[in-house]
Amino acid sequence: MRLEQSTKRGTRISDKGTIEVVEGSTIHLRVYGQGIDSRIGKMAHFVEVPSTATSVNTSCSEGNHDLHVLYSIHDSRHTSAILLVHVQILRKKSHSKTYMMCIKNETGQLQHQHLSDDMLIRVMESKDFFLPLWLHISLIVILLALSALFSGLNLGLMALDPMELRIVQNCGTETERIYAAQIEPIRKKGNYLLCSLLLGNVLVNVSLTILFDSLVDANFISIVFSTFGIVLFGEIIPQAICSRHGLAVGANTILITRLVMLLTFPVSYPISHILDVLLGKEMGTVYNREKLMEMLKVTEPYSDLVKEELNIIQGALELRSKTVEHVMTPLCDCFLLSSDAILDFDTISDITESGYTRIPVYVKERSNIVDMLYIKDLTFVDPDDCTPLHTIIQFYNHPVHFVWNDTKLDAVLEEFKTGKSHLAIVRKMSTEGGRDPVSEVVGVVTLEDVIEEIIKSEILDESDIYTDNRTKRRVSTWRRRDFSAFKGSDSETRVRISAQLLLAAHRFLSTAVPPFSPSILPEKFLLRLLRHRDVICELKFDEENKKAPHHYLYQRNKAADYFILILQGKVEVEACQENMKFENGPFSYFGIMALDTRTLNSLSRLNTSSAHEHHLGVRSLNQILPASNIQYLADYTVRALSDLTYIKITWNQYQNCLLASQMETTVDGERSVASIA
Ligand code: ATP
Ligand code: MG
Repeated sequence: MRLEQSTKRGTRISDKGTIEVVEGSTIHLRVYGQGIDSRIGKMAHFVEVPSTATSVNTSCSEGNHDLHVLYSIHDSRHTSAILLVHVQILRKKSHSKTYMMCIKNETGQLQHQHLSDDMLIRVMESKDFFLPLWLHISLIVILLALSALFSGLNLGLMALDPMELRIVQNCGTETERIYAAQIEPIRKKGNYLLCSLLLGNVLVNVSLTILFDSLVDANFISIVFSTFGIVLFGEIIPQAICSRHGLAVGANTILITRLVMLLTFPVSYPISHILDVLLGKEMGTVYNREKLMEMLKVTEPYSDLVKEELNIIQGALELRSKTVEHVMTPLCDCFLLSSDAILDFDTISDITESGYTRIPVYVKERSNIVDMLYIKDLTFVDPDDCTPLHTIIQFYNHPVHFVWNDTKLDAVLEEFKTGKSHLAIVRKMSTEGGRDPVSEVVGVVTLEDVIEEIIKSEILDESDIYTDNRTKRRVSTWRRRDFSAFKGSDSETRVRISAQLLLAAHRFLSTAVPPFSPSILPEKFLLRLLRHRDVICELKFDEENKKAPHHYLYQRNKAADYFILILQGKVEVEACQENMKFENGPFSYFGIMALDTRTLNSLSRLNTSSAHEHHLGVRSLNQILPASNIQYLADYTVRALSDLTYIKITWNQYQNCLLASQMETTVDGERSVASIA
């Protein structure tokens, strides 16, 4: 028997003459003998020889097809023939197997001819790389890269949901927009993309394992290598990268992805179609209000939104979930007016002090709100006229804007936008006591309340008293203009003048007459001075005797230690040597020098006086500033021409007041110094 040809490299003749062939090959075997004819192909069988076999115990009974004769050609002299034999792949675990040739005799029994080494065929495990090593390794690297790409894209692209891609296309950076536009068409076909990528990934991973296996001898090592290689380079690293840069990787490898989708189309498209039918189309992440709010909160540390912006977004999102009842000012805290109120000084000063612009008007009960009064309506109202409120509200006749307590804030906002009053009265359906449902007023709500809810912080306007109407926290910098001091002035002063006139005189003195300016005499002391019994005087004009001595307020060259401010009535002033005469009316004043010279005098003395002098009290004032020092001679004559109401402040009164204010500020100062110490 002689080996003539083999389809695989690695065949050889052993030292003992045994033919060694490689598994999986097809060999040409030439056999020699006598009387060989066309039957040889059918007669020749190869039987496995166990490794322990000897020529004695080897039988031809166990024929098999490990070596299978495909066909035979014999020569014309019948002394030889060529057998074409296919050598099967060895079963796992065996590295080589030995076979001997048996010939079937005429009776159909197998019998061997000779059992010598040169009559055996040994099938060897194939050590053959079917590829050159460099190509083999390059292929492994390429496959590894593809595996990495597929699993990376699988995570990266599938994690980019279609909505997100659309968002990025509209508001991403320039590059992000381009990337997103490239990826969107394939990402839309989510299941098809998924199937293609997974198919590609599995295909590549399996091929990798086989390639690894054929590269190394031991199976164990190939398992370890391929597992390690695929997990580390084919899964972990690419997925970690693509989870962060999926957009860039996806866009830059879009051609490969498209190619894979095309190649795997026959398998992946039908599967994806089935998935589409079963699972429905992929919608992408759609955020509802709650999720959006939660997302904003969670991403707050990483987003570039400032706190105020976040509050506004959250506030706006919460508008629909909050009702009017949530933000209204309860009825018990509302400033209302009764419809039978009189718009006198007291009422108007109450309105001014409240700081509100819109005031609901009720009849009989506070909950029975029937009208509205706006501060603007008072523009032409003179407190002295004591106009009844209902006259004003009937004249303006503002509609009352009602809302239900469970109205959502967004709906109220819409209403406020349509030109209705920016203050709405909140009503509630009440079924208390089992009666029929009736509506009752529970509070008021304004545009400011709604906006405060949107921006989630308090809005303070120039006249607000409270930062928050519900918690009733007062504005820290709020300076209360206390008009109460002007009310009911008649009880203390000798002469009745209206609070309105008293307020006007106060404002006039403190703003227009320097000795009474707040920097010299604080407003509250000026008020105290004005409310002094003797300060407001009245003069009854005697028509019979126009030149009666009591008509003269000042006389030229006569000492006068008082200041006069005319409030009502007319006076005649005669000034200078030329006897110039002219008339003066309300809010003309005289004798400012009577206060002024001494102001300077007293102030300089006060500044030099020692601290204990502050405790001397008012009684000692005359000792410090003896009246005899002061001589103010009027250089004009002032005579009444009608009944007069005027303010007359004497030097003494003024100085006392000034000293009292000085003492209070010094004592306050000392107190605060002591408390700091
Ligand atoms: P505007 O600022 O338009 O001049 P306003 O200051 O009187 O008006 P808003 O600023 O709209 O009133 O509201 C400030 C707060 O005062 C809100 O919380 C509102 O509920 C409350 N408020 C408004 N009017 C009244 C009122 N008459 N009585 C009690 N609370 C009121
Ligand atoms: Mg306001």
